[in-house]
Amino acid sequence: MKEKDKEPPKRYYRKRVELYKMIDKIKLWPSRNGRLHGIKTLEKLGEQVRITTHCDKTFIVNNSRNSRAARWLRNQWFGKVCPICKVPDWKLEKYSTTRFKRHYGSLLLSEGQKKD
Ligand SMILES: [Zn+2]
Repeated sequence: MKEKDKEPPKRYYRKRVELYKMIDKIKLWPSRNGRLHGIKTLEKLGEQVRITTHCDKTFIVNNSRNSRAARWLRNQWFGKVCPICKVPDWKLEKYSTTRFKRHYGSLLLSEGQKKD
């Protein structure tokens, strides 16, 4: 089997990871109108997260794993990629091979959290 025939590796994340950890890893944001934006910066503010996209929109969302955005991200629901954010193909490729599982995958925990 030739190297190029292999499928790209899939990444698995748990469904119950908090939104902040998920978008910190993926760096993509699905807006309500179906656009997928690239995240430039994100900052955790208590139970909320402040997000700035590459098209320079800043907004604050709840750090909830059950929010609309979290669900859309997990289900990979989006129409178009934002033309201003210019999300690179490799990032979209990586995202498209990411799967979210309930019982399997990384919990995206920081070192301190790993001990139960
Ligand atoms: Zn954008």
